[in-house]
Amino acid sequence: MLTEIVQTDTPEATRAAVNQAVTLLHSGETVALPTETVYGLAADATNPVAVAKIFEAKERPAFDPLIVHLPSRKSLHEVAEVPAELEADITRLIETFWPGPLTIVLPKTALVPDLVTSGLPTVGVRMSDHAVFKKIARAFDRPIAAPSANRFGRISPTSASAVQEELDGRIPLIVDGGACARGLESTIIRLEKSRGPKPFFHILRAGPITAEDLKKYGKIVREEHNEAVEANAPEAPGMLASHYAPRTPLRLLASPDEFVPQPGLRYALLSYRGQKKDGYLGLTDWAETLVLSPGSGKLPEAGIRFFHLLRQLDQLEDIDEIIAEPVPDRGVGAAILERLRKAATGSGV
Ligand code: AMP
Ligand code: MG
Repeated sequence: MLTEIVQTDTPEATRAAVNQAVTLLHSGETVALPTETVYGLAADATNPVAVAKIFEAKERPAFDPLIVHLPSRKSLHEVAEVPAELEADITRLIETFWPGPLTIVLPKTALVPDLVTSGLPTVGVRMSDHAVFKKIARAFDRPIAAPSANRFGRISPTSASAVQEELDGRIPLIVDGGACARGLESTIIRLEKSRGPKPFFHILRAGPITAEDLKKYGKIVREEHNEAVEANAPEAPGMLASHYAPRTPLRLLASPDEFVPQPGLRYALLSYRGQKKDGYLGLTDWAETLVLSPGSGKLPEAGIRFFHLLRQLDQLEDIDEIIAEPVPDRGVGAAILERLRKAATGSGV
């Protein structure tokens, strides 16, 4: 299959790209689309044959459920049951954070095929804030299933060229909407009624909407380290211990003194701020050093650049190991650390 890439750099080009994408979605095809998080591989969420093409192109195992993107807040009821005891909380959340990078896991309706949710009774839903995605979602006016547009387990794509590297020849169209504004996949939460006025928010995946952003609306419970996740157990489909993995082995350090270079090996450094005083730059004669947030040490900037730089490091020849500096465990830093841990677990294969 020939993979076409279309631009959205003028209003006319955008109109043509939207039409082409919507036509393909209607005909049960997949299309790679830009979102504010990472590029997604989209298909009609109500059409199991179309959804199956997502799994096939990504080589994604059927136990890893897809996120469903809505054309509007009011279409939530088509794909999800909103429990009465959580309705006010959910309404507040979607009015605050949608469109945006917050996925909410809710009981699914019969409209959503089991393939989308990997047989789970729940569905993850969100609304993208990307201008081009929004146009396509509104014109299509149906729920769109869209996981990240990478081969299963690999580095998420934050540009059209990264999608091309991952899926060229496997999908008919990539809509180029520029580099992704957030660069990290959406935050995923599940709500649970508590005895107090605020519900529990179980954070299933850390992301651009941070625990700090959410805590005004609920009591935060972080779930990424539970045992089911560590063991890749089927109770936690999708929440795999290994993900985002480069082909080169990757190691996340907790402190500079953990690193003892082996003679003859070539190391690349993924640095947080690229500052000597952090203690990592001088550890060895790095074959390459890439900096997540040059100088200023701003976590959102690090988030935007994270997958792009990881992909760049993974493309270097003759690197034996990628060494990652830790980033602060706050704000978007929590999402970066979660991904670095998973990248380290699955790297080098
Ligand atoms: P991706 O869109 O590639 O980032 O993958 C979507 C991820 O969303 C999956 O890997 C799961 O971790 C998560 N997810 C989707 N649906 C559900 C659900 N119903 N329950 C829990 N997690 C989900
Ligand atoms: Mg993914």
